[in-house]
Amino acid sequence: MTKKQENIHPVFDRILNREDKQTFLKQKSKVLWFTGLSGSGKSTIAIALEKKLQKKGFLTQILDGDNVRTGINNNLGFSNQDRTENIRRIAEISKLFLDCGVITLNSFVSPTIKIRELAKNIIGENDFLEIYVNAPLEVCEQRDVKGLYKKARKGEIKDFTGIDAPFEESKNPFIEIRTDKSTVDQLVEEIYDKIKNLISY
Ligand code: ADP
Repeated sequence: MTKKQENIHPVFDRILNREDKQTFLKQKSKVLWFTGLSGSGKSTIAIALEKKLQKKGFLTQILDGDNVRTGINNNLGFSNQDRTENIRRIAEISKLFLDCGVITLNSFVSPTIKIRELAKNIIGENDFLEIYVNAPLEVCEQRDVKGLYKKARKGEIKDFTGIDAPFEESKNPFIEIRTDKSTVDQLVEEIYDKIKNLISY
């Protein structure tokens, strides 16, 4: 135990636990971890899936660059060390949501096997459902939703995943989807069918 931790007295045995929260919400919490290239469709699918889940009565929370990097992680950049710290914090936040019975939909490029392993280890193997949002680089680059590929090609952004930084494909994801081959609605149905038993109380 480090010096800092010596004075921390966990209250986990005194507060309502995950089971209590899940019973209250009548659902089981999980972390849906969307990984893939920029522009592959992580946010689009997460947003559409969240709407479907809400219609079916599930309470969810989306975590993505917009609400994490502009808030709790606004002191982090894109060095290796900062990318790791970014994912560590996101995984820890997801764990708090798990304890609250809430299903999170996390969309982060999370480009390396190592970084996804870090998230999985923090969250716990049983609660971490990796969804590999796959589309060829050419398709993502053509979509160029945020104009980032153009900037990366011009050298205005360094270490951009897919251009001058690697994306390591998911070897054994819970689900892999191809967003260049099926529609958003089809993919949402596919994911929903595969997760519904895991999140239903
Ligand atoms: P990411 O979050 O992975 O960076 P976005 O969801 O922001 O990607 O962008 C994906 C883009 O691709 C959006 O403009 C979306 O409308 C488009 N798109 C086209 N077909 C699909 C599909 N089947 N699934 C997801 N996105 C798609």
